[in-house]
Amino acid sequence: MSSGKTGSKIKGYIEIDQELCKGCQICIAFCPKDVISLSDKLNSSGYLPVLFNDSGECTGCAICAVVCPEVAIEVYRG
Ligand code: SF4
Ligand code: SF4
Repeated sequence: MSSGKTGSKIKGYIEIDQELCKGCQICIAFCPKDVISLSDKLNSSGYLPVLFNDSGECTGCAICAVVCPEVAIEVYRG
């Protein structure tokens, strides 16, 4: 049964490609919801990538994906 979302709050989530990420942290600086943080595990290129913390706060605004120089972030909304 569908409850028919009225959508007063847009929910989003992102996927970060751990191997593409170079750990520049630009996305962390720009995310208005502060839901991206630095990993403590190196990727295979020797960078510390970033992780998404799905606290329910991400709006899918896509700012992180736009500013990422490595195009390592995919944004989903819904
Ligand atoms: S889509 Fe927006 S809110 Fe979600 S992680 Fe990216 S910058 Fe933050
Ligand atoms: S902006 Fe892109 S490359 Fe830089 S830390 Fe974020 S996901 Fe990684």
